[in-house]
Amino acid sequence: MPEDKLICGNCGAELTTAARACPKCGSDPRKAVKFCTVCGEPITNPNAIMCTKCGASLKGSAAARGGGGAHGEMDPILATVISLIIPGLGLYFVWPEDKKTMAILYTVVLLAADAVTVVVGIILSFFLIGLCCFFLIPVIHLGAALYTYNEAMKVTGGKTLF
Ligand SMILES: [Zn+2]
Ligand SMILES: [Zn+2]
Repeated sequence: MPEDKLICGNCGAELTTAARACPKCGSDPRKAVKFCTVCGEPITNPNAIMCTKCGASLKGSAAARGGGGAHGEMDPILATVISLIIPGLGLYFVWPEDKKTMAILYTVVLLAADAVTVVVGIILSFFLIGLCCFFLIPVIHLGAALYTYNEAMKVTGGKTLF
């Protein structure tokens, strides 16, 4: 197979590598993943990242479906760190589509808890005991991070903490 050949990922037509759009079907030949753009093998698995026949990477697949990140599995550690900084936000990346609203709700509630703790802490700092409130904030964040890690492990099938 010469290097200057490109197979349209949408219809399988043979094009030159310079082609920006397929003259046969009109779509971007590199975006669609119905055919391997190198060998023309029909791709039956829409989630495939490489061609099973020639091993070429099907780069279009992740990009065409809106940048992998939102759909792919989030790194549990990264999600945990996010939750540590903004409590609960990591859950948004860990949980599936139908639970994302819940994750946002958790984040809002935890951030509100943060704010309340700060306000109460400032008011009570006249009585010294208020300083204890400030210790609650890292506890909230740490709790959220641990919870996120646990949920991430549930999603990815790893070892859970509790
Ligand atoms: Zn085409
Ligand atoms: Zn191929």
